[in-house]
Amino acid sequence: MNGFRQLPAVDTLLTAAPDLAVQYGHPRAVEAVRQALNEARDAIRNGEIVPSQTELIDRAQTLLSVRPSPRPVINATGVILHTNLGRAPLSESAQQAMLAAAASYSDLEYDLESGGRGKRDTHLETLITALTGAEAATVVNNNAAATLLMLTALAQKREVILSRGQLVEIGGGFRVPDVLMQSGAQLVEVGTTNRTRIADFERAITPDTALLMRVHSSNFKMIGFTEQPTLAELATLAHTRGLFAVDDLGSGALLDTAAFGLAHEPTVSESLAAGFDLVAFSADKLLGGPQAGIIVGRRTLIAQIKQHPLARAVRIDKLCLAALNGTLEHYRRDEALTHIPVWQMIAQTADAIRARAESWAAQLAAQGVNCTVIAAQSTIGGGSLPGETLSTYALALNVPHPDQFMAALRRADPPVIARIAADRVLFDPRTVFAAQEADLLAAIRTDPLDSLFICE
Ligand SMILES: *Cc1c(COP(=O)(O)O)cnc(C)c1O
Repeated sequence: MNGFRQLPAVDTLLTAAPDLAVQYGHPRAVEAVRQALNEARDAIRNGEIVPSQTELIDRAQTLLSVRPSPRPVINATGVILHTNLGRAPLSESAQQAMLAAAASYSDLEYDLESGGRGKRDTHLETLITALTGAEAATVVNNNAAATLLMLTALAQKREVILSRGQLVEIGGGFRVPDVLMQSGAQLVEVGTTNRTRIADFERAITPDTALLMRVHSSNFKMIGFTEQPTLAELATLAHTRGLFAVDDLGSGALLDTAAFGLAHEPTVSESLAAGFDLVAFSADKLLGGPQAGIIVGRRTLIAQIKQHPLARAVRIDKLCLAALNGTLEHYRRDEALTHIPVWQMIAQTADAIRARAESWAAQLAAQGVNCTVIAAQSTIGGGSLPGETLSTYALALNVPHPDQFMAALRRADPPVIARIAADRVLFDPRTVFAAQEADLLAAIRTDPLDSLFICE
């Protein structure tokens, strides 16, 4: 224990190496020095000698010069599920579960009762079936994999009937017809772009038909003279003809978005209640968890899917599994709205956001930066609820060259992503974590172009 006392204090090291704070900022320098000291304590506990002051400073310097990739950024766009910015940020306990699974061995595929082999799915299956009312569930790498796996396991070399209005491209090149082709299933398109009736499906059924499929239109909206069969009609038709009804629900929600003035995003339970045999959805969209794809439905079909060789190729990794478990626990404890970041952001009231934007404006004004707070709109993003917005307030900056200013913000540390509307740079507090506010304001104030001070 004596060795511990020989270690210098955090402040001593920071004073001895003032460059650290100058180059990386005080908070990050403190963090690095603390980590270097913690590592030294671990080493001393293991019987190693006390490092010198120079060694400690060198270590802090090394820690600071390592930049994680992907780099954390501040999302001030107001787009909650920004696919390019990594979709859903994880809750505190989902992060902890992930860290615990990463740092140690776990009972991932080990049955602690029998001491024999266990299954990685069992951790989640009970939780998912309890939350959705499904008979059985399995989890894979993402929803694209879930869709591919369902089709490969159940419809290879057979026909899948789908409405022409649902042959969507999700983004990033995920096109439903291409996935269908990859699975070895044959696509049978019915109806027209805007109107498909249940009779269209009925006429297309042949002895080779395996599935009737529904794909949620996710990222686009059809309005006007449109028609699609109801979920119940599709499921009933499938069952009377000895077929299965399968749903690619896309985002899938476990809570009702309509409670927040948004349109109603279809829920997993609704598809199951309508009689669908299988429903697949993403874990990192409105669910608010890590990247994963969840398939729920009939026990016999889920068993068939789990046994398919492709299941191994698209299986979920242990870190995402731990994070998903941590996320789903919030739903089970009925605390999703207060603990899952995506839902906290959706549930934030416009008044609360206005107060945050005004506090930012006041802090910047005190430093001579002129800005205003304006009414604006946040969006959900991630291919959910297209065209739907949440009323928000944004900090608005008038700068002579908004594009250049945005580029400078992206070079800040951490980078700040904002958006431009009507020639002003907007910062929406809805998607900015409280802990990021100081960095955000510092990035704005730093203003490498000096543009803020030549504006009105
Ligand atoms: C988002 C989406 C997918 C892809 O899900 P990932 O989890 O990103 O793989 C597939 N289908 C629909 C309808 C979607 O909205």
